[in-house]
Amino acid sequence: MKQYKKISDLGEFGLIERIAARVAGAAGVITGIGDDAAVTAPAPAMQLLTSTDMLLEDVHFRRGWHDPYRLGRKSLAVSISDIAAMGAQPRWALLSLAVPAGLPLDFLDEFTSGFLAMAAEHGVALIGGDTCSSRSGLVISVTIMGEQLPERILRRCGARCGDEVWVTGTLGDAAMGLKMLESDSSPSALLSADGTAGDGYLISRLLDPTPRVSVGLALAESGLASSMIDISDGILADFGHIAELSAVGGSIRLNDLPLSAAFRLRAEKLPEFPYQLAFSGGEDYELCFTAPAENREKIVDCVKKCGVKATPVGIVSSLPGVVAVGTDGNPFSVPDKGFNHFT
Ligand code: ADP
Ligand code: MG
Repeated sequence: MKQYKKISDLGEFGLIERIAARVAGAAGVITGIGDDAAVTAPAPAMQLLTSTDMLLEDVHFRRGWHDPYRLGRKSLAVSISDIAAMGAQPRWALLSLAVPAGLPLDFLDEFTSGFLAMAAEHGVALIGGDTCSSRSGLVISVTIMGEQLPERILRRCGARCGDEVWVTGTLGDAAMGLKMLESDSSPSALLSADGTAGDGYLISRLLDPTPRVSVGLALAESGLASSMIDISDGILADFGHIAELSAVGGSIRLNDLPLSAAFRLRAEKLPEFPYQLAFSGGEDYELCFTAPAENREKIVDCVKKCGVKATPVGIVSSLPGVVAVGTDGNPFSVPDKGFNHFT
């Protein structure tokens, strides 16, 4: 292959070709990258689920923090998470890029490697996209399609009064990671730290989130859950969306919020316990779901089989609104209710 250094040497079609050359055929893909539209075949009896997300440089990511490989992974992970949150199987993705002409080609190659690695981990095929130049910053837009049997799809609108509210994994890690990066003037040690434990773990939760596909599918198949959402803006805000669409309310207990060992260790070093990061911190990409209380033990079993922990953290009530309940059992107000682009 000819050696290029910059995107501008390669041009739009060279760039598309460079990505397409790394994509193999996949199940259900009749015509992939290269034609005016991709042709796919969902499995019989399945319904098609579609979702799209944009990631803008300096709004959703900073090139100084997000190395291209993990940025590629995360660009697809956040979309896969939306399909997981419906209890569906992710299948096909479209990748649209607006690229600054001076972006090093290595960056794009690494980005593509990360994107395709995440795709392979979840059986997703890249079937197309769009490529253009950007005058200010890198813009990444991913559209994902998934499938599921109609009766298994889990929506935000199914929560019932008396249901328990659950979350998978731990909360607040990504927000803690972000806080650490924001307060570090030369974060290179943090960014290169081992991601399996300690501070490196918190950073990797922010830069390389894991979509909970197998848990979402297992819950959908089991019929145990009544509603589901993924936590991108903090549990108060995201359970708030379930509550609103289900025409209910609820409470979330501070004492029961699952926190990682790395989060607790870091929290001890702060002057005050950062409970608002667990309640309202964004980008954990865990699942929040509701289920009748009698399903508790079956849910623990179902989720354990996927190698993930789930924790009951609250209760659905008929009163509208979502409240946080403190260690003393009384409701209290959380100052930051979660990320919102226009406020
Ligand atoms: P058109 O002009 O007809 O829209 P394009 O030249 O934009 O076609 O795209 C040609 C092919 O390359 C299409 O199959 C399109 O889906 C695919 N493609 C374009 N950009 C990307 C990308 N960033 N990633 C993957 N496929 C892409
Ligand atoms: Mg096009």
